[in-house]
Amino acid sequence: MEGKGRRVTTKPSNWEAGIEEPTEFPMCRCEFPAQLRTSWSNDNPGRRFFGCKNHGSVVHHACRFFSWFDPPMTPHTKIVLLGLLKRIRANEVQRRKEIIFWLIF
Ligand SMILES: [Zn+2]
Repeated sequence: MEGKGRRVTTKPSNWEAGIEEPTEFPMCRCEFPAQLRTSWSNDNPGRRFFGCKNHGSVVHHACRFFSWFDPPMTPHTKIVLLGLLKRIRANEVQRRKEIIFWLIF
């Protein structure tokens, strides 16, 4: 068992804006409150999770703390979100192409 039972409580920063923010953060194995991150995987686009503060650093590579914050998505939500993301990415590619066009010609 790891990271269970011990929690730190902080004041939510975006409470008034109506954005759902965690009021408590689970503690990970490194004795730090875990950080709220956003997943952009195809399976969970935009879904937030708690991850180790030191994730990705060489020193703490052993810590693989992971815990979802947002509830699981319905298949419909996933499809809608992925469609939106695809559109945003396509727009960006198009914009870059236009910039390159103006730079060359
Ligand atoms: Zn950690």
